[in-house]
Amino acid sequence: MSPGPEPGAVLGDPLAPLLEVVRRTFGFEELRPLQDRAMRAALEGRDALLVMPTGGGKSLCYQAPALLRPGLTVVVSPLISLMQDQVDALREDGVPAEMLTSAQESSERREVERDLERGALKLLYVSPERLMTSGFLERLEGFGLSGVAIDEAHCISHWGHDFRPEYRELGELRRRLPGMPIQAYTATATQRVREDIAAQLSLREPEMMVGSFDRPNLTYRVLPRRDLASQVEGVLSRHAQEAGIVYCLRRSDVEELSAELRARGVRCEPYHAGLEPSQRKRTQRAFQAEDLDVVVATVAFGMGIDRPDVRFVVHGSLPKGVEQYSQETGRAGRDGLPAECVLFYGGADFHGWRNLIEHSAREAQAGGVQDAGADLQDALERLSHVWNLATGALCRHRALCEYFGETLPGREGGCGACDVCLGEIQRVADGEVVAQKVLSCVVKTGQRFGAAHVTDVLRGARTEKMRQTGHDALSTYGLLKEHGAREVRAWIEQLVGQGHLRVADGEYPILFLSKSGVEVMRGERSVALFAPVVPKSKGEKTRSAVRASATEEGLPPPDQALFDRLRELRREIARDRGVPPYIVFNDRTLLSMAARRPRTPEEFRATKGVGDKKAADLGPAFLAAIREHGMA
Ligand code: ADP
Ligand code: ZN
Repeated sequence: MSPGPEPGAVLGDPLAPLLEVVRRTFGFEELRPLQDRAMRAALEGRDALLVMPTGGGKSLCYQAPALLRPGLTVVVSPLISLMQDQVDALREDGVPAEMLTSAQESSERREVERDLERGALKLLYVSPERLMTSGFLERLEGFGLSGVAIDEAHCISHWGHDFRPEYRELGELRRRLPGMPIQAYTATATQRVREDIAAQLSLREPEMMVGSFDRPNLTYRVLPRRDLASQVEGVLSRHAQEAGIVYCLRRSDVEELSAELRARGVRCEPYHAGLEPSQRKRTQRAFQAEDLDVVVATVAFGMGIDRPDVRFVVHGSLPKGVEQYSQETGRAGRDGLPAECVLFYGGADFHGWRNLIEHSAREAQAGGVQDAGADLQDALERLSHVWNLATGALCRHRALCEYFGETLPGREGGCGACDVCLGEIQRVADGEVVAQKVLSCVVKTGQRFGAAHVTDVLRGARTEKMRQTGHDALSTYGLLKEHGAREVRAWIEQLVGQGHLRVADGEYPILFLSKSGVEVMRGERSVALFAPVVPKSKGEKTRSAVRASATEEGLPPPDQALFDRLRELRREIARDRGVPPYIVFNDRTLLSMAARRPRTPEEFRATKGVGDKKAADLGPAFLAAIREHGMA
């Protein structure tokens, strides 16, 4: 492969017409490096798989080439809300795009069919099951189908976290459309999923493109859970008037936490699969329309949420695996502006998940499912990875990337965007000694007790159980009495997370030492323990996105009041047009306006994210708002 020319390059470049389309239609002056490669592959009619994190700019990779090549590009997408969003956005940019879904009236569908017959569309969004309906592909070919793009392609793989049986049918595509280029897109990066996608779709010598998985604009923090409502309130205090999602494990947790937060004056709504569909729809709509900023939810609130200015994602308990964590936190900061992800966890989460996983494996086995044993091992392994991530003290960006098989280049002073590198987690000065005390206490009590009792022994508690067991006579009794129960408990969890202590399978979460734990206890292996400290939240008057964008593009700092005024205008326009506000302009574009304060249509057109159609449609209103603001 020859290296592509620099973005934005040179005369005679085959990409030149493409860059022109990108500039005029979407208002971007240059392509990101993998976009360049993906679009080349699309234009050359090659199969491809592009793996890029959320917010990386995958959609442009099939949208822009679709405008340039003759005929129709079909985009397969798993959710109607995702299709609706993209179609709305494309139409705002003046692109002839449509979708065919079961949610449409038959008259609407007929209209789309007519457009197809006339060859009036460049992009058509459909669900996998519709695409594979008998005869449909053949008709599309009759309408000049020139390529198929498959979004959220990991849905085809059992190994992914979001397998959808309808996606499996896409395996037939290659046979039914032997000559058609197929391009697949996903944000899920494990090697196994990647290979599975290519195999399931029978991609032919696909151009494999894997972007970096790091999301440098996200700041990760992981803290032991104490008083969750207060802890979440602490996060919210850093994000006044900003959008965010708080994930809880169970519906009852959602109800409880959202009630508690409301009692504390937080405007938020609960969301989980047990609520009335009408209420769920209302909440989702209000969130998309920027009428509501905080949603407390189970993971049922997720895939259809495309709001790009989500500034924080909180997890109230441990997610099921690193893939899930990465997917769920990935909903923050899709616009590339800074966002924060905070995970609160406790040892109970680990056991809760394990019980659940084992329970469903037993059910699967009883139901005669093959591979139930392997699936169980797999699920337990994932769980232990995410537990290690939470309790470990490796740079979070690094740990996440390593999980997906990517090594981040080391940076002096760390990543600057996680609790570990920001020095919010303090190393316990005599961590080795503390670890030895904990481990020998586990041994002295016969490796027959759970974390609660071991903590009590170490702290010298006078409990009924202590009298019964006689553990108050042990040499390890009261060895850590000067430390709080939470602290001791956190150290036990860290030792579990680092693999030095193990938790027995079975009814009781009994602690016992691993081989490495024995070595640590004997002083033959080094170990570090950490005392988490709470991040500072005071003194952040300016909102994070506004602050960051000032430094980012070498622009003067955006005027916060003007930015707020432009957001308001955007909301009014969005309401009139019946689309979500970010479809009108995203925050980045508004921030750029608030910093550059364009005065003429030409200056306005030069704003990143403003294409020809939007400049004509929206320029006058926004220019007027900027002018008025200047006079106020
Ligand atoms: P993904 O589908 O990978 O999650 P999107 O396609 O939604 O990402 O793009 C994320 C954001 O990046 C969008 O706001 C989009 O407008 C913006 N974007 C995409 N490509 C470019 C580019 N070349 N220059 C500037 N912004 C871009
Ligand atoms: Zn870091």
